[in-house]
Amino acid sequence: VFPVDRMEDEEGPEYGKPDFVLLDQLTMEDFMKNLQLRFEKGRIYTYIGEVLVSVNPYQELPLYGPEAIAKYQGRELYERPPHLYAVANGAYKAMKRRSRDTCIVISGESGAGKTEASKHIMQYIAAVTNPSQRAEVERVKDVLLKSTCVLEAFGNARTNRNHNSSRFGKYMDINFDFKGDPVGGHIHSYLLEKSRVLKQLVGERNFHAFYQLLRGSEDEELQGLHLERNPALYNFTRQGAGLSMGVHNALDNDEKSHRAVTEAMRIIGFSPEEVESIHHILAAILHLGNIEFVETEKDGLQKGGLAVTDETLVGYVAELTATPKDLVLRTLLARTVASGGREVIEKGHTVAEASYARDACAKAVYQRLFEWVVNRINGIMEPRGRDPRRDGKDTVIGVLDIYGFEVLPVNSFEQFCINYCNEKLQQLFIRLILKQEQEEYEREGIAWQSIEYFNNATIVELVERPHRGILAVLDEACSTAGPITDRIFLQTLDTHHRHHPHYSSRQLCPTDKTMEFGRDFRIKHYAGDVTYSVEGFIDKNRDSLFQDFKRLLYNSADPTLRAMWPDGQQDITEVTKRPLTAGTLFKNSMVALVENLASKEPFYVRCIKPNEDKVAGRLDEDHCRHQVAYLGLLENVRVRRAGFASRQPYPRFLLRYKMTCEYTWPNHLLGSDRAAVSALLEQHGLQGDVAFGHSKLFIRSPRTLVTLEQSRARL
Ligand code: ATP
Ligand code: MG
Repeated sequence: VFPVDRMEDEEGPEYGKPDFVLLDQLTMEDFMKNLQLRFEKGRIYTYIGEVLVSVNPYQELPLYGPEAIAKYQGRELYERPPHLYAVANGAYKAMKRRSRDTCIVISGESGAGKTEASKHIMQYIAAVTNPSQRAEVERVKDVLLKSTCVLEAFGNARTNRNHNSSRFGKYMDINFDFKGDPVGGHIHSYLLEKSRVLKQLVGERNFHAFYQLLRGSEDEELQGLHLERNPALYNFTRQGAGLSMGVHNALDNDEKSHRAVTEAMRIIGFSPEEVESIHHILAAILHLGNIEFVETEKDGLQKGGLAVTDETLVGYVAELTATPKDLVLRTLLARTVASGGREVIEKGHTVAEASYARDACAKAVYQRLFEWVVNRINGIMEPRGRDPRRDGKDTVIGVLDIYGFEVLPVNSFEQFCINYCNEKLQQLFIRLILKQEQEEYEREGIAWQSIEYFNNATIVELVERPHRGILAVLDEACSTAGPITDRIFLQTLDTHHRHHPHYSSRQLCPTDKTMEFGRDFRIKHYAGDVTYSVEGFIDKNRDSLFQDFKRLLYNSADPTLRAMWPDGQQDITEVTKRPLTAGTLFKNSMVALVENLASKEPFYVRCIKPNEDKVAGRLDEDHCRHQVAYLGLLENVRVRRAGFASRQPYPRFLLRYKMTCEYTWPNHLLGSDRAAVSALLEQHGLQGDVAFGHSKLFIRSPRTLVTLEQSRARL
């Protein structure tokens, strides 16, 4: 009997398997049991090889902070219990030791803990870098950390699924110099859910920034913005009734956050004028939302027309956007159209048209504001004063925190884009994981055998294929002159894809009562079926704003606002080229993102939301099983085990199993670790099931691992 040295794992068998690859049998039941067991013991992290599976605990666990960071710093992945810090450390080491660009891809559904995970990763990186305290590096780290709080104010909102839900996708690059210290960064944002500016579901809120402004500003500031403190007074902030509900005291929170965000903007390097402009723009949007239109009566010979119900609001908007009031009014009531050649005529709006234009303007102003904030932060984080000879020696760690697969009661254009994004990422995941395996086998001199897996390429094609793909058909519908309806778009889809195995609609499946005729189509995603309502697809894809608004804002006397509208320079007669549609822009950004990620060494964090009620310590099995299925986790384990269930560097293998063999406990005298491993396996009669790589042992069947684990547990 050998003494047991458990130094390397504070995880005994009572905590389940720290790596799903070690499971005795691989069924959904076994997977779920292990997940549940670990979760109950506060072990929220588990590996699948190098992929980290994380379950949101919905409570503060003593897992983070400087002490925990120190435990992971410089260690190998296997030396400590599974943790985000180990993944961050893995990415950092690969970057530093091997000068490899790496990326950490975090996925999972809303509320699964992606954003929190990305913050822990950033904190880890900030903590382990810049030991020499260089001032410029400290500045960059500060901006990196503080930018999160600013972006959350403008891009996050309370939803029914998450009180602090990111309503945009975020990819952040951190640049490191040759010493391994952060010297800059860059943020890409994807598809802000701007329709939220206008409308919120019951129980939800608009973006945090609005409430923070209302509740956190000083009295005189509010007066200067012509605002009252109460969000219920504004159309854009009073719906949803999610004003002060939920676990946090929203009032108190908004007030504190306002100060924190304003302070963060100052530290990052926003000028006081810029911060003031931002507040003006937010206020202008709130006033804009309260403007309503009426038709004026015909009065004798006077032609009937359109008016706003409350002109003081127009005055406020004009003042806050630093534009002439009469021009604001004119832009709200009519648009100019080019009528051939250089001739321009003014065409009055109907009430419906004016309301539509007002809403389009509010959404666009908010989106431009958000993008401006992102760009401003990027400008500040751009690697400065680089030695040109060292250029190109910078290495990068990218962190992707992007919306997970989404199925709502009614799914629209936004869900369609989000789910397409997840198809792309899933495809990349398959590609990279397999590629990585293959590369490793080659590196270690082991014969490679290929693995069968479900390839979702055909679903990606259905969406993005030129000419016939759903996005192309949508674009074509949007460029058709004259009235084109969402319904006609649906009919065209039906004709093109009637035989596609992943597409259906009521027209094609008349008996399927879960879809509505003329309204819904369904895609069989890799993660499950989603029914989309075509209503609003064309409008959201076209995403147009009358040129008059752009010109108005471009001519603002406020330089910050003006900078957001460079395309307002154009004259209406010059605006002939159709701008790219929202769908095409999104597709292009996804293609670029995937290309970028594919060029890096990937690390994956797969987040799971334990229950729908945001409560601590409860893991709803059905809810989780579904996520495990669509994240492809079982498949992931299978791929990992298909060729070889496990591969471990010789020292790691010995560390875990040396106590099971008299030749290796407590230390071996066999010349090399490889020889020691060989002796150990021989004693267990397991040498037939392995291959010896240059630096690692490859174990073919999970049975072997189980045998080893059992003999270890018997001690
Ligand atoms: P969305 O897609 O909506 O942005 P998300 O995956 O980014 O969702 P988070 O905002 O990261 O989700 O997490 C939701 C909430 O869950 C957090 O506000 C926090 O209360 C809790 N939470 C997440 N991760 C942890 C953790 N590691 N420890 C404690 N609480 C956590
Ligand atoms: Mg988030």
